[in-house]
Order: sequence, then C-alpha cells, then structure tokens
Amino acid sequence: MRRFWSWRIWVVVFLALALSSSRFIACAEKYRVSEERQRQLQEEKGRVHCSRSRSRTSRNIVSEYLMPFVESEKYTLPKSCRLHPDNDIYREQEGNIDELRPMQWQCRYCKKLFRSQVYLDMHFDNRHSENLDTSSNKCLADTCGALHCDYFDSLSSSKPKMQATCKPAVVEKNRHACEVLANTCFPAEKSPVAKKLNDFFKRQFCDAHTCKKKLKIYPRGSGIDRNRSLIYALSFFTIVVLALFYLVVYLHKRESGMLIKGLRRARSRPSFKGSKVQKD
Ligand SMILES: [Zn+2]
Repeated sequence: MRRFWSWRIWVVVFLALALSSSRFIACAEKYRVSEERQRQLQEEKGRVHCSRSRSRTSRNIVSEYLMPFVESEKYTLPKSCRLHPDNDIYREQEGNIDELRPMQWQCRYCKKLFRSQVYLDMHFDNRHSENLDTSSNKCLADTCGALHCDYFDSLSSSKPKMQATCKPAVVEKNRHACEVLANTCFPAEKSPVAKKLNDFFKRQFCDAHTCKKKLKIYPRGSGIDRNRSLIYALSFFTIVVLALFYLVVYLHKRESGMLIKGLRRARSRPSFKGSKVQKD
C-alpha cells in the first residue's frame, strides 16, 4: 500500500513539474517576444522615415526650377514653408558630399571614398546618422507629388515620362498639395513680390496637375540649365574653330613645304641647253 502511494506521488510530482516547466517555458517565450517587440519599437522610433533619394530629387527641382526665380526677386522663404532649407533633414549630410570625378564620391566627415552614391548614402545611414537634422521632423520627399519628382527623374532618360493614365483622385491630391505649398511659401497677401512668386509657382508646378489637357511641366527652365547649355555650345564652337584653324595652318605649311622642295629640285637639276651652248 505504501509502495502504491509512493508510486502515485512520484507520478503526481512528475506531472506537476512537467506542467510548471511548460508554463515557465511559455512565460519565458512570451517575455522574449514582448522584449523583442519593445526593441523593434525603440528602433522604429529612432529610424528616419523619409526617403533620401526622393528628398534629393525634390531638392534638385527646387534648386533648378524655383530658387533662381526666388533669388532674382530677392525673396526669403518663410520657415513655415516646407521647401525652406531648415525643413530638410538631410541638408547637413548632403552638404558633406564631394563628387571628385565620375564614379568617385567622398564623405567629407571621414574622407572615405565610394564608387557609387548609393554606397555613400548607406554609409551616411550607418555611420553618420547623428548628423541628421531631425529637429523639424519634416521630410522634403513629401513634396514630391506636388513637384513632379517622377517626371524630373525621367528627364535624365532619353524619353521623359509623362503620366500614362491620369488618375483624377491622385491629380487632385497633388494639385491641392501644390497649392498649399504655393500659399505657405509665398503668401499672396504678404507683399507684391510674394503675390508674383505665388502666381509663378502655380504656373510652374501646379497648373500641370490636370487630366483635361497636357500642359508643360516646369514651363520656365532654370537659369542654371540655360547657362550650362550656353557653356557647352560655346565650348563646342571653340573646339570646332580651333580644329579648323590648325587644319588650315597644316595644309598651308604642307603646300609651302612642297613648293620650296620643288624649287630646290628645279635649281639643283643641270641645265642641258646651257651646256650645249657652251660646247658649241
Ligand atoms: Zn564618413
């Protein structure tokens, strides 16, 4: 009898131990999952949710198609404007990039060299994230819809891409965002210059947000591009003129050299007529 009870007690003890250990394992697993989730949330908090490449496109559009006109009017963007440099979290890092030559990029913080800007961007994310200006918490990439970033990026390809199918809801959303930008950056009631630039901004960026007719995006080209084209045209013209000049000089020298040689040969040749006369 005693043996029987002792055997049962052992079984109960074993089952109790098994149950408690499985509970303990389940609790430990739950705790681990919760810890992992907390860690992920902390990482998410620190991570910047703003596309660097889209921000760069937006920045290039602003510098090529807006700022030359804003600067020519001596207008200062208000800080409430999303296009103000202070509202660009990548501004500090982007100012520390050197393109030494094609396929060679340098980080100014640590002088490390990269073959591609993509690797330099990754380097900034991994090594210099402390230089991100997250104080304003505004992302320049958010203005891409209003500023036609996709179209701008396609300009570097052979065929600029116009939107194939027009989606009225998207177009309306982008147009609204564009007009909000125009009104916050250039409040028309502020001054005549602000009113002028407000109208210009809407013509340059907002009018093309329509499905009704195909309007030119950025109807007024940037001063930078025009100057660049002029420089290229002048350089090409100078090269052609120099090439023609050297060709003419070369041909002239060649002709005169041949003439001199011909004359020398003619002089050194014996005169048969003269010798005959002397013999007679
Ligand atoms: Zn670096």
